[in-house]
Amino acid sequence: MEGVKGLESDLEAMRQYFRSGKTKDTAWRQSQLKGLLLFIKENEKLIFNALKKDLGKHPVEAYRDEVGTVTKSINFALHGLKEWMSSKTAKLPRVALLSSAELVPEPLGLVLIISSWNFPFGLSLEPLIGAIAAGNTAVLKPSELAPASASLLANVLPSYLDIKAVKVIQGGPAVGERLLQQKWDKIFFTGSARVGRIIMSAAVNHLTPTVLELGGKSPAVVDSLASSWDKQVTVNRILVSKFGACAGQACIAIDYILVEKRFAPTLVELMKVMIKKMFGENPRETNTIARIVNQQHFLRLKNLLRDPAVQNSIVYGGSLDEKNLFVEPTILVDPPLDAAIMTEEIFGPLLPIITLDNVEDSIAFINSKPKPLAIYAFIKNEKLKRRMLSETSSGSLVFNDAVIQYAADSLPFGGIGESGVGKYHGKFSFDTFSHYKAVTRRSFLTDFWYRFPPWNDYKLLL
Ligand code: NAD
Repeated sequence: MEGVKGLESDLEAMRQYFRSGKTKDTAWRQSQLKGLLLFIKENEKLIFNALKKDLGKHPVEAYRDEVGTVTKSINFALHGLKEWMSSKTAKLPRVALLSSAELVPEPLGLVLIISSWNFPFGLSLEPLIGAIAAGNTAVLKPSELAPASASLLANVLPSYLDIKAVKVIQGGPAVGERLLQQKWDKIFFTGSARVGRIIMSAAVNHLTPTVLELGGKSPAVVDSLASSWDKQVTVNRILVSKFGACAGQACIAIDYILVEKRFAPTLVELMKVMIKKMFGENPRETNTIARIVNQQHFLRLKNLLRDPAVQNSIVYGGSLDEKNLFVEPTILVDPPLDAAIMTEEIFGPLLPIITLDNVEDSIAFINSKPKPLAIYAFIKNEKLKRRMLSETSSGSLVFNDAVIQYAADSLPFGGIGESGVGKYHGKFSFDTFSHYKAVTRRSFLTDFWYRFPPWNDYKLLL
């Protein structure tokens, strides 16, 4: 589909195709999932090239976060599909004598997927897997800010899929807004809370159910770990998930760290050593850190970092290379809490550390902010773990690692409050794009006579 020319008639054709029942076939769904798999397999090199061009991602990172993850998810869906599609029996009250009931998953119809640029394949295809597996027709609008990836999706993906059922439309906010004027059976959006609000208000017109996969400031709490092994593992995991996953341009990246004052110097020293080990003495020359997506985001990060209020907080890094859209992995200790770096989502390789008198204070700190997409808690103390679990609220909670939850098909992925609405991944994706129809089957054989007027003293037995 080129741009939005002929949009209304194209969408009407897709609705009619859905009504033909074709997309409900198990075989059709399987063939589309296999088509997606083949797209990934046959175009792996092109995908790596596009990710290099758009974001400077190293192929190993690109494989881990996009090609490999999506392949895993498609295989998981292919394996589970028949079971997911099967109806599930349900219990009825006694009054429905000689009856049976079931939940029958049915596709919603025509769905819209709008995705973000930071994982342009993963965040487009992961929801598409769910949409197809559930038997829907779908329009995908990737982000214009990763143009090489968007163009590969628009120009190559359709030849692997049923083009009557899946369309890719390229474009930015204007195209997005045009799409939002149409009637959809579900809108699945990945992006910022600002645009999320636009999506939700547009959805009101047609009462369209909406999933919003947003972001925010996800904290990591680091306890004063006793053994040097635990400290090292913690530092390795923090660094790879912050700087080694799209250079911190990830919705579930650690945004900032909370740590006890007495442990902060040790943590910083360990981080300095490991950053050099992972990304070299001259990180500008490394190809293992992704680049900032464009100049606008580069300047946004530059402003966060060049804010006079945070200058004294920078303890490592801080150099910028505008020509190459490179921001050095940077650590800050105790920037003012009202500085933009601590009030806005960072979405880049800047890592503030906030010190606390007691690690237990981290719970109150987190609870004073909007509910995050993720909380990472590097702690061994079981009592504190229990408190973290029961006293905080977030899309996900990971003990002793970060970002790894994204790869789990068995866990719902999504936010809460400001970090999002709805969930997906694995069977949750299938459920997100399905309606569970409640079907009750009654026999004509018999009934309780007191179910019918005139009423008497009997109470209806439920
Ligand atoms: P964005 O909201 O600017 O754009 C997201 C998508 O919306 C793009 O495709 C864009 O073209 C489209 N869009 C922009 N304006 C629109 C409008 N007015 N109407 C309709 N569509 C419009 O976000 P972004 O810069 O691509 O991504 C960064 C944000 O996304 C961060 O906040 C990040 O945390 C979040 N994010 C969340 C997840 C998640 O899975 N929860 C994943 C990645 C990114």
